Amino acid sequence: MRIDAKLKGEVVRLFWARSRRLFVSPKVVVGKRVDRAESFGKNIILKLEELAIRLHLMMYGTIHLYRLDEPLLKPERMVRLWLEGDRLRLVAYNAPIVELDSYERLMSRLRVELGPDPLRSEWNPEEAARRLKASGTKVGIALLDQRVIAGIGNILRNEILFRAGIHPERHVDDLNMEEVNRIVEEAKRLTDMFLKRKIKGERIGPILMIYNRFRQACINCGGPVKFYLQEPIKRKTFVCERCQH
Ligand SMILES: [Zn+2]
Repeated sequence: MRIDAKLKGEVVRLFWARSRRLFVSPKVVVGKRVDRAESFGKNIILKLEELAIRLHLMMYGTIHLYRLDEPLLKPERMVRLWLEGDRLRLVAYNAPIVELDSYERLMSRLRVELGPDPLRSEWNPEEAARRLKASGTKVGIALLDQRVIAGIGNILRNEILFRAGIHPERHVDDLNMEEVNRIVEEAKRLTDMFLKRKIKGERIGPILMIYNRFRQACINCGGPVKFYLQEPIKRKTFVCERCQH
């Protein structure tokens, strides 16, 4: 992660956050060293010695890194978090979740809130399969539930199901374990692939097999690609009904 490489080693000189979820005094952040930035699902975790800051950007939050002499690129009223070291300033705008807590407490809370994350070292495919099977809903909906598998967004969801040959409207109760495992394997393989391209600065467009291919022939069978909004989540869904059952 870009933030990780740039911010690592920075000692905090100034810290300010607008949030009701500051579980330790913001004053104790000053003087701490940034150990690393990591992700857990769609959360960004800044580890500062025994403390941690959690940021979740949802659709509208952004993080900027500035040199200390650079002006802010967005209005100050949008600032939710301000963290300044000797060289750099990290500013999070409009982030709906900003949390400050001990690293241990924050991470154990996330492990309860979130399912296994394919990008983390503790990734557990059996646990992901168990949660998917127990989700009690359609597989297309379950895959976006962060308590099932953390970090899967809508593009990935479409690509995973196409490659696994599973229709998004299938109920998880009707999936056999071989199908569940196939979905979990694709989830791991594709999240890795997406991340690798992101790190290299390559677009993901060229590797997509079903997403946004409405009105084009299915890449596998040449059949029509159907587009609809899956209910009740109303997310863009692409499916080839010849290849996905
Ligand atoms: Zn097809």
